[in-house]
Amino acid sequence: MRYIEPHGHMVSRTTDDYQDMALAGCAAICEPAFWAGFDRSSADGFYDYFCQLTEHEPKRAAKFGIPHFCWLCINPKESEDTKLAEEVISLIPQFLDKPTVLGIGEIGLNKNSRNELKVLELHVEVAAKHNQLILVHTPHLEDKLKGTKLILDVLKNDKRIQPERVIIDHVEEHTIQLVLDAGFWAGMTLYPESKCTPARAIDMLEVYGNERIWMNSACDWGMSVPLAVPRTALEMKKRGHTAELIDKVIYQNPLQFLQQTPRFKLL
Ligand SMILES: [Zn+2]
Repeated sequence: MRYIEPHGHMVSRTTDDYQDMALAGCAAICEPAFWAGFDRSSADGFYDYFCQLTEHEPKRAAKFGIPHFCWLCINPKESEDTKLAEEVISLIPQFLDKPTVLGIGEIGLNKNSRNELKVLELHVEVAAKHNQLILVHTPHLEDKLKGTKLILDVLKNDKRIQPERVIIDHVEEHTIQLVLDAGFWAGMTLYPESKCTPARAIDMLEVYGNERIWMNSACDWGMSVPLAVPRTALEMKKRGHTAELIDKVIYQNPLQFLQQTPRFKLL
């Protein structure tokens, strides 16, 4: 089996996780900037985090033979303080020339507040100005449908943004069609309980097809499974899906999206 982990928060994971992923056939890992589990107290904290994502973590992954890429932003969870967010966003352009930076992400909304929307628009501006790919985080549970609609409106209203260069992540049964119909890519996040279980993800593939869709583990500091993608692939096999289809969903699809930036190169 070969697969790409298009959304994994590896700074929170151990070397055992890297080893397991390498053994399972992981060909590349992409790490979006994320909330640390606590609010960082200053823009300096983000500067250090961006250095960790662009310099240190690729070296750690390389020890296991896995290319590591990243996305940069201030997460929606930390967007309420718009002054801090503006400071952090002003740090981003200096990192965009680093060889493993794929784009701006994971941006989006958390509680769908006015300040979060403002910060989302600032990120979209940076992405458009610097011609970057975009990875979007959508809110949880009851805020998801409304938040997804608000995010799609922001993106669709900016004529510089090409939907095929944007992935809307954490889609669920009630948002996936909306995302695909608007021409965007859709990411399914495989969590043990919340977001999307492997069984639900496969159901969605069976209902909505396999174009412009990828799966990720989003493995982070919380309850999550770094091998969720290959485990779901095994589950697909059990359900009778062909090896070709499984390879398309877990390898070729993410490759197709990510290769839109010349930065994304496999070994
Ligand atoms: Zn994430």
